[in-house]
Amino acid sequence: MDYDTYGSSAVELAIDLANADAQAPGWVEAFLDSHGEWFTEGTVTELSPQQQEAVARTSALVRDVAVAQSEPEVMDRLNALLALASPRPYATTHDGELHLHYARPDAEVVEQLTTTVAMGLSQVVVQHGWRRLGVCSAEGCGHVYVDTSRNASRRYCSNTCASRSTVAAYRARQRT
Ligand SMILES: [Zn+2]
Ligand SMILES: [Zn+2]
Repeated sequence: MDYDTYGSSAVELAIDLANADAQAPGWVEAFLDSHGEWFTEGTVTELSPQQQEAVARTSALVRDVAVAQSEPEVMDRLNALLALASPRPYATTHDGELHLHYARPDAEVVEQLTTTVAMGLSQVVVQHGWRRLGVCSAEGCGHVYVDTSRNASRRYCSNTCASRSTVAAYRARQRT
């Protein structure tokens, strides 16, 4: 499995979207700006309130897929997300590496985003199994992740959470 060789694979976009802090003011536009690689140059990223809601809905759907507890549940939720996608893939080398983009290049930004995350997420689930998606085990985190490790042993969303939990477990042992 080497879908993490690209720093910017479509599934990472999906995970980042699911983990975005939807309470933060202006989070949608900040998210779009920091993931600009997926949007055709010149795509308008100023959104109407309805478009912002659509992005929040896509974010929630990705999270629903990642936290699902069984294959049928993953399938249902993935299909809900895919129903919003309008794929029209094309190959590109715009960043120097040959890779696929999934949405029409002239689609509006929400369509580009939703299509890209739906396609990225479903490819990982279909190729590597639904158990590759999970929720961080660190106390109080709740972020979701995609497990790209060889032996599917990941439990945390980030190195920060992994080491925070190691320290917490060590301290708990010290106390007993
Ligand atoms: Zn690209
Ligand atoms: Zn975490």
